[in-house]
Amino acid sequence: ATFEDLGLSEPLLRGVVEVGYIHPTPIQEQAIPVVLMGRDVLGCAQTGTGKTASFVLPMMDILAGSRAKARMPRSLILEPTRELALQVAENFAKYGQHMKLNYALLIGGESMSDQTDALNQGVDVLIATPGRLLDLFERGRVMLADCKVLVIDEADRMLDMGFIPDVERIVSLLPPLRQTLFFSATMAAEIRKLADAFLQNPKEITV
Ligand code: AMP
Repeated sequence: ATFEDLGLSEPLLRGVVEVGYIHPTPIQEQAIPVVLMGRDVLGCAQTGTGKTASFVLPMMDILAGSRAKARMPRSLILEPTRELALQVAENFAKYGQHMKLNYALLIGGESMSDQTDALNQGVDVLIATPGRLLDLFERGRVMLADCKVLVIDEADRMLDMGFIPDVERIVSLLPPLRQTLFFSATMAAEIRKLADAFLQNPKEITV
């Protein structure tokens, strides 16, 4: 298959071509059309499979096709570590050269006032680690009420790092009518239980 076959928009396809990708990876081939249809996804995939683009690309097209309400963020990507959050932000910037979408990177160890300034400009996407996101939320600096697309990435690492209570709290702050994409390298019983709680009739994809 080609990226054209997956239903992505022309400006996004241009971005993908410029990055140098020729063929979608198996997870991209399976996930992108499903995400574009608005369905939840339970993806069992490791880093290195191209999983980031499998949620970043269709999310960008969903956001490009709908309008922001009062400049509130419309989408949230949760990552267990700063490094992973940074990588997702880099992907977002690369693919989105021809898209008018912006993001805020909300991670620990960086200036909270810079992150607040970014939020005040109005962003489409939050790319965050759970602790910093909750901190900003408690201080009233970030609105989650319009985040209708949620990605929980590396759920197994979230579990290992003890972040599940934070993730549960964050999910409870989001609109109940939303699209959720949940990725984990493993599907242990505890992970599956979480997936059951967060997802509605997901398409399961294992690569
Ligand atoms: P990920 O699994 O998302 O961490 O991606 C692993 C690496 O594969 C990253 O360096 C991506 O830039 C790269 N990559 C993702 N999708 C493709 C693709 N379709 N063709 C070539 N490289 C890709």
